[in-house]
Amino acid sequence: EQNRQPRREERSRNAFEEAKQYMPGGVNSPVRAFKSVGLTPVYADHGTGSRIYDIDGNSFIDYVASWGPLIMGHAHPEVISAIQETAVKGTSFGAPTLIETEMAKLVCERVPSIDVVRMVNSGTEATMSAIRLARGATGRSKILKFEGSYHGHADSLLIKAGSGVATLGLPDSPGVPEGVAANTITVPYNDLESVRLAFDKFGEQIAAIIVEPVAGNMGVVPPAAGFLEGLRRITVEYGSLLIFDEVMTGFRVGLHSAQGRFGVIPDLTCLGKVIGGGLPVGAYGGRRDLMEQVAPVGPIYQAGTLSGNPLAMAAGYTTLKLLNEEVYTRLEELGARLAAGFEKNAKELGVPVTINRVGSMVCPFFTDQAVTNYDVAKSSNLDHFRAYFGHMLQEGISVAPSQFEGMFISGVHSIQDIDDTIEANYNALKAL
Ligand code: PMP
Repeated sequence: EQNRQPRREERSRNAFEEAKQYMPGGVNSPVRAFKSVGLTPVYADHGTGSRIYDIDGNSFIDYVASWGPLIMGHAHPEVISAIQETAVKGTSFGAPTLIETEMAKLVCERVPSIDVVRMVNSGTEATMSAIRLARGATGRSKILKFEGSYHGHADSLLIKAGSGVATLGLPDSPGVPEGVAANTITVPYNDLESVRLAFDKFGEQIAAIIVEPVAGNMGVVPPAAGFLEGLRRITVEYGSLLIFDEVMTGFRVGLHSAQGRFGVIPDLTCLGKVIGGGLPVGAYGGRRDLMEQVAPVGPIYQAGTLSGNPLAMAAGYTTLKLLNEEVYTRLEELGARLAAGFEKNAKELGVPVTINRVGSMVCPFFTDQAVTNYDVAKSSNLDHFRAYFGHMLQEGISVAPSQFEGMFISGVHSIQDIDDTIEANYNALKAL
């Protein structure tokens, strides 16, 4: 049942004040500070299944899922056991371990574009390394990305970025050298015509297009029909590489990730989030001829002290083993139920809301326009979002504190959780 009494937050407020003395903004990643919603952050104490519990004793049905990784919920018993069993044998060796091969094999089997894969420690490392590989393999410098997409915080990818950059309304980040920024071309998502124009002009210099096959960092924006196919065609035509950044969508939107779901096969794929099962993991992989240009086989350098870490591999491997077609069918059903409930509420209350959904990624935008790119996403009523977010917290529902992030449903959310969330959404919309 919901905690309908007002959210208690005294301990969270004190914790946050202390944290601010020692960490920038009190946090280790910006959006966690709740700055754009002007509230005290929820200080997590523990989680189980679909719920999190904060240090003030509030409980929430959680759709942040650690920003995507926890597709089987918080503290899944099998994942925790795997971590515990691995930990007692030692936490890191910097020598090859058997679990790394098991993990790589599973990823190669399930992700259509991946013949060979390299594990790293975050999504940022995955995209940064894939870009280096694309540049090294093609001998070209420019890359093309989409406005409002977020691919981590590497210099060349921090141009017109989504996620926290969008949430905080920041301009392109200081500290990125002009020369680096000049090599990044940005065009609107879902706009093949603009991609075509950019390639008419710079095609021979473009090493790669990097794209979220479902955009998840400007809120959730599905690829328009033919968009991904068009990117595939254009990159082949110009000898550029196509990189799918599936850090968010990988194993989130299907057992074979977004590329399996949409049937478009990139040259390189970046993974993260779900494949770490809640521990710090990223990966990049693709065709053997490309991946074998990476050291030690080839000259393109990339390394990591903790890469392939046994705890992270154990958590990720166990999580991937829990996933099967049944889980994705359930995620699809829960997602559809949630979206339909939200749509009905908005209609009944006459609040302009557009719901975008791909599988278990769901995003209500406060606009009545079809949200197909970052410009439309930005036209959402952010005051409405802020108020809505605060009401949802009061109703015991934890969603990301930003219009530019989606909700993540897990395989352990119950129908009751979804229905309680729909009811909370009704109350929150009504209070606007
Ligand atoms: N790519 C995408 C699509 C992401 O959503 C994110 C993180 N939200 C990243 C890359 C960066 O991953 P990380 O935060 O693990 O560095």
